Amino acid sequence: MAEKKKLDLNRREMPKQPPHIRRRNFNEVALGYTSELAVAEAGRCLQCKKPICMQGCPVEIDIPGFIKCIAEEDFAGSIRVLKDKNCLPAICGRVCPQEEQCEVKCVLNNKNAPVAIGRLERFAADWETENGKIEMPKIKASTGKKVAVIGSGPAGITVAGDLVVLGHDVVMFEALHEPGGVLTYGIPEFRLPKAIVARELDYIQKLGVKLIPNYVVGKIKTLDKILEEFDAVFIGTGAGLPWFMFIPGENLNGVYSANEYLTRMNLMGGFNYPKSSTPIKKHKRVAVVGGGNVAMDCARTSIRLGAEETYIIYRRSKQELPARAEEVENAEEEGVIFKFLTLPTKLIGDEDGWLKEIECVEMELGEPDKSGRRRPIVIEGSEFRIPMDGYVVAIGNSPNPLIPQSTPDLETGKWGNIVADEETGKTSKERVWAGGDIVTGAATVILAMGAGRKAARSMHEYLSGEKPDTSDSK
Ligand code: FAD
Repeated sequence: MAEKKKLDLNRREMPKQPPHIRRRNFNEVALGYTSELAVAEAGRCLQCKKPICMQGCPVEIDIPGFIKCIAEEDFAGSIRVLKDKNCLPAICGRVCPQEEQCEVKCVLNNKNAPVAIGRLERFAADWETENGKIEMPKIKASTGKKVAVIGSGPAGITVAGDLVVLGHDVVMFEALHEPGGVLTYGIPEFRLPKAIVARELDYIQKLGVKLIPNYVVGKIKTLDKILEEFDAVFIGTGAGLPWFMFIPGENLNGVYSANEYLTRMNLMGGFNYPKSSTPIKKHKRVAVVGGGNVAMDCARTSIRLGAEETYIIYRRSKQELPARAEEVENAEEEGVIFKFLTLPTKLIGDEDGWLKEIECVEMELGEPDKSGRRRPIVIEGSEFRIPMDGYVVAIGNSPNPLIPQSTPDLETGKWGNIVADEETGKTSKERVWAGGDIVTGAATVILAMGAGRKAARSMHEYLSGEKPDTSDSK
């Protein structure tokens, strides 16, 4: 009888830049596993016969398979297994919420020490870049069919990559001057180096995808016009419309939406002004309102820009914070001050229209609301003011409205999202598919990729009348 594997509960930590150093630079915080650490961590995997970790992965990666390869030091094998299901492992290994997906299902999670699946995924992908040759898939013979992909975020990248290897002619339209969606303009360099995103975009272009930047579909050309030139269209335009709180003072100088703040920094290189052409004011005291990953990214950016004090203002308690635990920990280590159970109600400016202080109220938690989280309730008479010269609103985004607005027969939902079939991505309009944040509202990279993959499968079936066999094209 096979001997039972001894449990190793020592989850290997990933080295990071120390907080006092990383507070002053934009380089990546987490440094990745060495091969020794990766092999040791991979050796902890129990190789379960029924791997329930896979149920937590929206793109169904063979998790025990790629980890086994790492444990056996077959790093090239591990990246092959990963890429069979995930075309962006270096990105997902860095930003996927594994603690809510694969790792939460790992049987070792019962002992509070799940296998570090995300870190291992990142290791394999980085190993490929540093040591291996990037394997190019075989491209199938041309089908003569033309596909337009609108939006170059993770949903669009996945659709484009999947369809080009199946022999379709793919053109990707991007509104901004740089492709990559949130991966490029939103998630900061210190969490996701832009060189990694550029590498993935370069890869799909080498496969044959034609990228057209600076092209706003719905303005330059409507969807109907695009449909005259293409056999099928995928819409992956994301959720780029920021929400505001509609409190007095939101139009003061020094007040930003998270999108503007992060785009100025990441896409326009604001931190490098005057070497870059886009300025960003260096504020002394910055409040970021919100509690998700976007809020953490803004607060940590403000620290790196040299703010003396940066606050996260969140109306619930620490327990309800929607951001990844790892990012909250990083923000705390870097000196972000958390003000829980607090809600800004008014922004007050000076005579020149610049923000000078914010008024807030204290909150308490009542009964759970529809989301299952306890409802925050204002404590009457608890108003107080804090001096502040920078304020970033990071409370959420809506789907991008431009294409739905200029396409009256495209069915949309209550929040302006495009309605699409969950399994196929088909919309109400013939020859049009959609997926990612434009359908679900602001979600995650891996869910956008999963939606892209399903849509690509359905689009290929429509275009060729056959089910894709991608087994020899990866
Ligand atoms: P997007 O990435 O938004 O890409 C859409 C693209 O379409 C954009 O490039 C846009 O310019 C383009 N576009 C829009 N309209 C048009 C048009 N009319 N014509 C042409 N192009 C158009 N998720 C995680 O999993 N982990 C994280 O840690 C994480 N952190 C985040 C941090 C921030 C700051 C933000 C904003 C989001 C974060 N997310 C995270 C969410 C994740 O990035 C998104 O869910 C994901 O990028 C959605 O992918 P998408 O392809 O649907 O859209």
